Parts: sequence; C-alpha cells; structure tokens
Amino acid sequence: MSNHDYLQQTKTLLSQLVAFPVLGGQSNLSIANFIGTYLDQSGIPYHKVDNEEGTKTAIHCRIGPVVEGGVILSGHMDVVPTEGQAWDTDPFQLTTQGEKWYGRGTTDMKGFIACCLAMLPEMKKANLKKPIYFAFSYDEEIGCRSGALLAKAIREHYDERPAFAIIGEPTDMQTVTAEKGMGVFETSVFSRAGHSSQVRNGASAVQEAAKLALWLENKMEALIAAGHIDDRFSPNHSTLQAGIFKGGIAPNIIADYCHLEWDLRIIPTDDWQAILSDFEQYCREREAIVRAKVPEFKIETVPQYPFVPALDTPAEAGIVDFTNSLNGQNQTGSASFASEAGQFAEAGFEAVLCGPGSVEQLSLIHI
Ligand SMILES: [Zn+2]
Repeated sequence: MSNHDYLQQTKTLLSQLVAFPVLGGQSNLSIANFIGTYLDQSGIPYHKVDNEEGTKTAIHCRIGPVVEGGVILSGHMDVVPTEGQAWDTDPFQLTTQGEKWYGRGTTDMKGFIACCLAMLPEMKKANLKKPIYFAFSYDEEIGCRSGALLAKAIREHYDERPAFAIIGEPTDMQTVTAEKGMGVFETSVFSRAGHSSQVRNGASAVQEAAKLALWLENKMEALIAAGHIDDRFSPNHSTLQAGIFKGGIAPNIIADYCHLEWDLRIIPTDDWQAILSDFEQYCREREAIVRAKVPEFKIETVPQYPFVPALDTPAEAGIVDFTNSLNGQNQTGSASFASEAGQFAEAGFEAVLCGPGSVEQLSLIHI
C-alpha cells in the first residue's frame, strides 16, 4: 500500500469512527460492532470483554504468530462531550479544512485507532516475527474504567505473553514514560438537622465537610513541604482538591448532610492508599469528637472508580528503545493527563504512550 493509499484509508476509517457519537459512560456497542465487523472482514478473530450489563464492550485481537514478546497497540473508543463548546463544524462528522481534519476524537484518540485499522492489511502481509495485538477500550474518559479489565483479559486469554503496550494517546509521537495516577472520591457527611441557634449542641455537616476540604489542602501542602516532588510533571507534586461541595437546607438550619467530591492526582512515588488512609483516619477522629453530641454522625468515603495507577516506566526499559526506534526520537517525556498506560503496566506489560496528535488539540475537559 502506498503512503497515499494508506492516508486515504486512514481518513475513510477515521470519518467512520468519528461518526459514532459514543461518549464516555454511554453504550459503545455501535462503534465496537463496526470495529468487530472490520476485523471479521480482515480475517482476524477478535475477542470481546463485556461489562456486566452487556451494554459496553472492549475488544482485543492478535495479528501474527503465536510467540512471546509481542506489542499491544491500545486505544479507547469513547470521546468527551461536545456540549457547551464552540464548534464551527459538526463534531461527529469528519470535516477537512486545508490539511487539517476536524471532528471529536480525531486526536483523542480515534486517529490512532484508524491508523491501526488502516495498517492491518500490511500487518497481515508483513510476515511478522512477533505478534501485534489491538486493545480497544470503553469509558476511558470517565476514569479509565475498562483499561484494567482489558489488560487483564489480554494477559489471561493468550497463552503467550505480549511484552510491550503502546497506548496511542496524543503525544505528538513522542515516547511518554511517566504519568500521574488519578482517583476521584465521594465523601458524605451525615449529621442531624436542628435550629441554627443550637449549633453548639449539634454539628453542621457543612462545617464538618469544610474541615475535610481543608484537610485535603493541608495534606497537599504537607506532601510538598516533605519534599515529595517530581520535576517531570507540572505541577511537580501530587494534588488534592475538592471540586464539588453540596449540602445544607437553609441558613437557619444546622446542616444534616454534606457531600464532597474530590480528586487526587499523585506523582508515581506517592502512595494514594496511604493518603486515603490518612484521610480516613482524620474522618474517624472527627466522628469520635462529634458523636459526643450527635451519636449518629458519620463520614463515608467511596471511590468513584478504581484508582488509575501512575505510570513510571524506567528509561532503560526495552519498550523505550523500541518505541524510539519507531518514532525516531532519542528522548522521553511525561504527560499531565491520565490514561490507561499505568493499568497495562500493572498487568505486566512494559508501557508507554505514543500516538498521533497533540495535547494542544485536546478538549479542556480531558481527564
Ligand atoms: Zn484519550
């Protein structure tokens, strides 16, 4: 296939992929079926990893020989919303203007998936010495919710073990070896309503939640002060912050309930479980104090989704040289957004990010 044919085929596939308006959180069966049909027609057996309800599915397949040491090419099928954003073109129709292609997901990251699919006939013809695997996930944009399942499914499904995973997030084709980890937590504070004049005999859930929000800020400052710094990232430290704070009934009523949603982004050397455990300990301390006045007072924290692990692939890892030999680079970078790379690394595959498109074109609401 000539470069021109390859580009045309990539564009055709990308326009088809962009036309599926599958947002994170929504059923992705339409786009998954499209990709499945393409693989079928190419004679590549593929495997689905369904969610419990059967409304979403991830896909993986192998191209090439059954030998150890292959390479996984991974992308997510979902995109971020377009609502409230100033689009000059239909976001779900690929539009060409000059040399640029516009459409939701062209950069993040249907462009990469289109490249993989367009190259499939060449991969089949190439008499590969090691296999290539495709791994396409769902719900990446709402907390990388299928990445860990997909990585585990690949590890368990194939008798042979792939060595590398390249996650094709937009890095301008740079080799990215480090990412922060990320988690979102929901904390609910339950107290008892009462007249505001009686506040010293009760406990306002809003006031107590405010203490928790401040704890998060103080914890972040404490980590910085203790030298938990990683200059590969901007900012160069872990961050904790409450993004949603809701509670209360009226100004003259002691709040019976308050709800916090907070996010934690950690540099690879910080331990999210230790941070969460410190937070929980503080919650238990507050409960012990407040229950003297309000016996039913309690604080509960649940994760919105499993924590997305950080990525910290060593510079000497084989995948770094391998990826740099493909993209012609001799350096590595770090990314400030979260992706599934850490999940693939946790499943036992050396992982990096490397893909077409630039973070400059990413939506502001990228996770
Ligand atoms: Zn992405």
